[in-house]
Amino acid sequence: MEKKAQSVRRRWNPLHQSWVLVSPHRTERPWQGEVGQKTVPSAVAFDPQCYLCPGNQRAGGAVNPSYESVFSFVNDYAALLPESPAAEAPASPLLRAEPARGLCKVLCYHPDHSLTLARMTREEIRPVVDAWTREYLELGGLDWIRYVQIFENRGPMMGASNPHPHSQIWSTGFLPDEPAAETAAQRAHLAQTGRCLLCDYAAAERETGDRVIFENEHFTVLVPFWAVWPFEVLVVSRHHAGALPEFNDAECDGLADALKRLTTRYDNLFETSFPYTMGFHQSPTDAESHPEWHFHAHFYPPLLRSATVRKFMVGFEMLGMPQRDITPEAAAQRLHDCPEEHFWPRS
Ligand SMILES: [Zn+2]
Ligand SMILES: [Zn+2]
Ligand SMILES: [Zn+2]
Repeated sequence: MEKKAQSVRRRWNPLHQSWVLVSPHRTERPWQGEVGQKTVPSAVAFDPQCYLCPGNQRAGGAVNPSYESVFSFVNDYAALLPESPAAEAPASPLLRAEPARGLCKVLCYHPDHSLTLARMTREEIRPVVDAWTREYLELGGLDWIRYVQIFENRGPMMGASNPHPHSQIWSTGFLPDEPAAETAAQRAHLAQTGRCLLCDYAAAERETGDRVIFENEHFTVLVPFWAVWPFEVLVVSRHHAGALPEFNDAECDGLADALKRLTTRYDNLFETSFPYTMGFHQSPTDAESHPEWHFHAHFYPPLLRSATVRKFMVGFEMLGMPQRDITPEAAAQRLHDCPEEHFWPRS
C-alpha cells in the first residue's frame, strides 16, 4: 500500500498556543493494548451508599437535604481551602512555592442517581445551567477569587468515583494555567486584529462546515481543527459573551439543548455511557475587564475506537507533543451521523 506520508500534518491551536500532530494512516494499525470495561448507567434511582443521593449522610458527617432539583455544597475533601499559611522562604529561587487559596464545591444535577446529562431532559438540564450561573456569580463575587472552574468528570475511565450526576466547581485565588494560556492568546488576538479570537474561529468553522457537528440558534458544537482527544468537542456561543451571567433566557435554554444533544450523540457513538471530562472556560473574576474572553465548553473524552478502547497520552505525547490518528473531520462526521434519540430511554 502506498505510504500516505503527505497527509501527516501538525496543526496549530491558536487558543492554547500549541501544536498537535495528526497522523491519519495510523488508524489502520492492529490494536493489542488494554481493553476496558463498557460503562452502563446505574440501574437504581436511589443508592443508600451514595454520598450525593438525597437524605444520605456524607463522609464528613453532614446529611444531604431531600433535594428535588439541583443541590450544591462545599466539598468535604476540598483540594483548596480558603486559608493557606504564608510560604516559607525558599532555599533557592528554583524551589518556589506560593500560598494557594480556593473554595471547592459539588453541584448535584438531579436527585435521581441513575441519570446523566444525556438521559436528562432539556427541562431538567436548564436548572443546572442556572445553578452554574449562580455559583459563578457567588464564588466569582468574592474579592479574593480570581477564577471559577466548573467541570464534570463522567465515568470510571475518567476517574469519576461516583456515577451520581454532578459537577465540581473549583474557584481559586489565582488564574490556573489553562485559562491563563487562553487569556493571553485571546488578548493578543484582540490587540492585533481588534476582533475576538473565538468569534473569528467560529466564523471560519461555520464557513467550511467540515468540523461542525450541529448547532442551534445560540451555540455551535464542533470538533476543533486542533483537537487532541479523538472525539474532543468545543461548544462555543454564537454571540460574543464572556461568561454564563451574560446569557439571556433563550441562550440558557440553548446551552441546555446543546449539552443534551451532544451527550446523547456521544452515548450513541459506541452505545455506552460515554466517559468524558468537560468544563466551561469563561472570563476570570479578577475585577479587571475581559473583552477578549469568549465563553466555551471543552469536552475531552478518552475513547478512541470502541466503548472499551481508550486513547493513552504516553510516549511521544508526554515527551514531545500530542498526536492523534482519526482526523478531526472524520470524528465530526461520525458524531454528526449519530442519532439524537437516546438508545437507553428512561424507564
Ligand atoms: Zn446518588
Ligand atoms: Zn467572541
Ligand atoms: Zn478553553
